[in-house]
Amino acid sequence: MADWQRTFTCGALRHDQVGQTVTLNGWVNSRRAYNQQIFVDLRDRHGVTQVVFEADPAVSTALFETAESVGREWCLSVQGEVRRRLPGKENPDLATGAVEVVARHIEVLNRCPTPPFEVTEFPGEELAGEDVRLQYRYLDLRRPSLQKSLLLRNRLNQTIRSFLDERSFVEVETPLLGRSTPEGARDYLVPSRVHPGAWYALPQSPQLYKQLLMVAGFDRYYQIARCLRDEDLRADRQPEFTQLDIEMSFVDQDDILKMIEELAVVVFRACLGIELPTPFHRLGYDEAMLRYGSDKPDLRYGLEIVDVTDWAGNSGFKVFQEAVASGQVVRAINAKQAAGRFSNTELKPGGKLSEVVTRAGGKGLAWLKVEEGKYSGGIEKFFNAGAVDALGACLGAVPGDLLLLVADVPDRAAELLGGLRVHLAAQLGLVPADNHLFRPLWVVDFPSFMRDSEEGRWVANHHPFTAPRVEDIPRLESDTAQVKARAYDLVINGYECGGGSIRIHDPVVQERLFAVLGMPTEQAHEKFGFLLDALKMGAPPHGGIALGIDRWAMILSGTSNIRDVIAFPKNQRARDLMTGAPAPVDLRQLKELGL
Ligand code: ASP
Repeated sequence: MADWQRTFTCGALRHDQVGQTVTLNGWVNSRRAYNQQIFVDLRDRHGVTQVVFEADPAVSTALFETAESVGREWCLSVQGEVRRRLPGKENPDLATGAVEVVARHIEVLNRCPTPPFEVTEFPGEELAGEDVRLQYRYLDLRRPSLQKSLLLRNRLNQTIRSFLDERSFVEVETPLLGRSTPEGARDYLVPSRVHPGAWYALPQSPQLYKQLLMVAGFDRYYQIARCLRDEDLRADRQPEFTQLDIEMSFVDQDDILKMIEELAVVVFRACLGIELPTPFHRLGYDEAMLRYGSDKPDLRYGLEIVDVTDWAGNSGFKVFQEAVASGQVVRAINAKQAAGRFSNTELKPGGKLSEVVTRAGGKGLAWLKVEEGKYSGGIEKFFNAGAVDALGACLGAVPGDLLLLVADVPDRAAELLGGLRVHLAAQLGLVPADNHLFRPLWVVDFPSFMRDSEEGRWVANHHPFTAPRVEDIPRLESDTAQVKARAYDLVINGYECGGGSIRIHDPVVQERLFAVLGMPTEQAHEKFGFLLDALKMGAPPHGGIALGIDRWAMILSGTSNIRDVIAFPKNQRARDLMTGAPAPVDLRQLKELGL
């Protein structure tokens, strides 16, 4: 061991080491001179330790001079004696705050120019701009809070691995260079040099490989897999992401949900020390859309949507009655005790709350404030006698409540009120700020197919390999809109954290499904012949799921920025500001590829 190498980390020293000579290695978190002394806070990923350099000529002036010259983020080795801090000088914010190291020797392992931003975090102080932090990501990653997020992510991965290993799952790596089999998003393509004009695609998910592993008999597979989708970016999306990919043979939907619930319980316990209650709540897709206006509802708050179409049709209010007569629905939210939180100006057309609905494509927002013995809002006078009271009774209204109503076609009404619900929860402070309340939920019974609004054809809601409910198989072609999938999504606090399905293992059903999606037999064989062949060769019944690891890490670490849980993320324009990717390449490289 070289004499500069550490004997302790910067997070280790306690009273027990007082009197010992130790060596620490780390980075200069801060340096201050005070009373003929220099204090250097030395940081590594384990913590921070205070090192004192004393201007004691009996020791060495060189030691003091070197300490005077060091700057922030220099990399040092310091040897010295551990001593108890003077009474009143302890730092309760530091795990090592009861002691300090009196330096006897210093070695500069490497210097650092003045860093482009402060790595040291000061409570309440704003961080430097994200672009410069992404450009110098290796410095940003020295920040304790980012280190904490990545360590938590590591804990998540290790917990998953040991959980699955204990249950006989086999970790298998599947190819990165594959065939383009679009799953709804755009592929990232890689040109083949050896086969000019032919392309590999980077995987959007290992979906087909994991199904083929079931045909191969592996029966329980998992992989912490990188997936790539060339999609337009949103705040919480990255072009590449990680998912825990799972597939099991000889199982039904309940087996998979139960196993994932157990995994979630173990993960939350290991990462946060929180016990999740099981079984998780389950909600059919139709009911989720009706009651929450979303297929990924946040159940930490109420604000449930109530369908009042029957009431509206006979309410005497012309606007509602005409809407109902033309096939629209009327749905309402009772925002409990929120009447005083929104001014009439905010509620009226053009007002802030009303605009939440109109900006999302709605025609308007009707509202009633509930007062002692009466309702106000301007529309109350248009109703039949007793109609408003009937509405109030149906919504459980009491004085102080605010009733909000929207009329539209069912899908849009759901979407508008779903958006309004999320907005209200934020405005009313119903979303707990701390990271301790988790309301996991399974959304099940999704429709198998959706109409592509541009092309007017059917597309798979999940993916084309998802099995329809057994009882729906006969009506795949005749009643396509009503076919429900054996698919499930795991939702936590309004985030979709995973999704999967029981797969089709009957090649004939798979071909029929391709045909419903507008892929005639010939084309299906050309694209997915390998899958159809495999299904014919004794494919077992199977199903699986994928959990978004980035999402999970975000939820567990309580951040809303996905880049906080990824070591080297792209920015919102899919750029890596540190390496400059994507970047132009040499003409020679392109020529070699025949491009
Ligand atoms: N392959 C699916 C996805 O990535 C997950 C699954 O069905 O297992 O969304």
